[in-house]
Amino acid sequence: MYTLNKKIINLVPYEPISGTYDIRLDANECPDNLPEFIREDIKAEIDKLAFNRYPDPMASSVVEAFASYYGINSALVTAGNGSDELIFLIEAAFLEKGDKMLVVSPDFSMYNFYSSICEVECETFVKNDNLDIDVDALIEKVNSDGIKLLMFSNPCNPTGRGITADEARRLVTSVDALVILDEAYMDFWDQSLLSEVEKYSNLIVFRTASKAVGSAALRLGFAVANETISRAVKAVKSPYNVNSFSQAAGAVIFKNKEYLQNRQKTIVKNRETLYNGLMELGKAQEDFTPIESVANFVFVRTSQAEKIFAYLKSKSIVVRLMGSYLRITAGTGQEVEQVLNSIREYFEVTA
Ligand code: PMP
Repeated sequence: MYTLNKKIINLVPYEPISGTYDIRLDANECPDNLPEFIREDIKAEIDKLAFNRYPDPMASSVVEAFASYYGINSALVTAGNGSDELIFLIEAAFLEKGDKMLVVSPDFSMYNFYSSICEVECETFVKNDNLDIDVDALIEKVNSDGIKLLMFSNPCNPTGRGITADEARRLVTSVDALVILDEAYMDFWDQSLLSEVEKYSNLIVFRTASKAVGSAALRLGFAVANETISRAVKAVKSPYNVNSFSQAAGAVIFKNKEYLQNRQKTIVKNRETLYNGLMELGKAQEDFTPIESVANFVFVRTSQAEKIFAYLKSKSIVVRLMGSYLRITAGTGQEVEQVLNSIREYFEVTA
């Protein structure tokens, strides 16, 4: 009788929040679909696809468009089937069985999740009470514990906090480990190391089309690193990891720089409105603390998280519940107004 091994026997399939809600603020997605004029251009490209052929293994068209959008060298970019694939791939290939990796907490849970499947040891560095990373303490931990790989998000999901480019540089140059800087939300801030990867022997920067680029449906992630590391990433990935639809669509989308950047500015403005509104609500409450964010969401500490989550759900608004925190994505201006009104209403009803 075949039995599943102990790495996987207790795993359950990922279940995102299901159901239909009027307002989705749970997954840090972009609130609007791509506009008609971009979707028309994508349709024209899809129409030209050779459906009988395998995709371009190097995803050249979308990699070129991505590199040109960010002003970097396309030879240093590898496309993945979402950053999720790249996280798994890097842990599986750049670590050997029993090696130690380090994650920080709180952070994106998938880094830790894949480590057990890859049979690597995953240690955790806990952030300080303000949810910021003490960079010196982190450097010390990496170097004294024999860590081979450090992976964290900057800006951080779920806290919305970030370390500056100077701090990130100091970290990368002070540790004896490969550093994966997951910049999934860096389009909303300006402290990226994306254009500097060639200077470091031990840095991979991740980017994604799922957040500020508003294309989560495509599953497009990017690993950017020096030539040696990039060659290795390309060598270990499965050959046809990004399908032809996503390559074609991504190549069109990244050519619309002005549109994308304007939309990002609007999202940042909406996040500020959300943060300020939550701060205002927090003034009247003993225990409701929004954390200042540099991403497209706001993390709020409150012992009433579960109750507020349920109340919002009853109003057809879904946010992310994480213990005694809520993570609320900055949606459209109207969505932000509605979530703020509903939380205010919750406090009135329960007063
Ligand atoms: N990194 C971080 C920090 C994220 O928050 C997410 C999505 N929640 C991802 C990576 C995954 O991105 P992708 O859609 O490209 O797999």
